[in-house]
Amino acid sequence: MIEQLDILAFGAHADDVEIGMGGTIAKYVASGKKIGICDLTRAELSSNGTVEGRQLEARRAADILGVQVRENLMHRDRGLYLTEEAIKEVVTIIRKYRPKVVFTPYIVDRHPDHGNCTNIVEEAFFSAGIRKFHTDDEYPSFRPAKLIYYMINGFHKPDFVIDISDFIEQKVASLNAYESQFQTSAESVDTPLVNGYIETVKAREKLFGKEVGVSFAEGFKVKTPIVLNRDLLGEL
Ligand SMILES: [Zn+2]
Repeated sequence: MIEQLDILAFGAHADDVEIGMGGTIAKYVASGKKIGICDLTRAELSSNGTVEGRQLEARRAADILGVQVRENLMHRDRGLYLTEEAIKEVVTIIRKYRPKVVFTPYIVDRHPDHGNCTNIVEEAFFSAGIRKFHTDDEYPSFRPAKLIYYMINGFHKPDFVIDISDFIEQKVASLNAYESQFQTSAESVDTPLVNGYIETVKAREKLFGKEVGVSFAEGFKVKTPIVLNRDLLGEL
């Protein structure tokens, strides 16, 4: 049987998860947790880089963060739609890895693929726990405890933050693994990503950190309240 994951994070494109929650992943890996990433497309429409090159970059970024599993559902870039087939594919991944917590992009984002990814993941998150929701695989139904939204583009008021002060450099290193996206070369074209994008992400995490009195934090959204399992005076 495949080892159960603590956290499974979905993204439309390789690099989405690193942008939104690379520090959180590094932090949980450091505490011995098992983490997986599932990218829904191969990002073949990216202005810079090749599909093969991006796959290598994705593997390198996952290694930097200590991620155990990285899957790719091979959907067409800009071809990510809420279809029964797409939902079933994500259901299969959830049932296969039985994550305790699932992450997906916050739906308010300038790139439509990020919201489309989340529409699919929300449906799958629900259906994965329904015993009679059948897919082509043989995995039993499974319902993760929580669905949490990470931020890719933009700055939104988080519902909660995670202190990543000790892991910001690891996050930046994982983003730097995507050389084709975030660095200029002789062949590359100008995009919002190569113009100081990583610095912008770092600045955002610094602001989130400032809100709670730490150096860097990543911000998250939820639809249902988070339960605090330790008392407010303890170490949260
Ligand atoms: Zn993306």
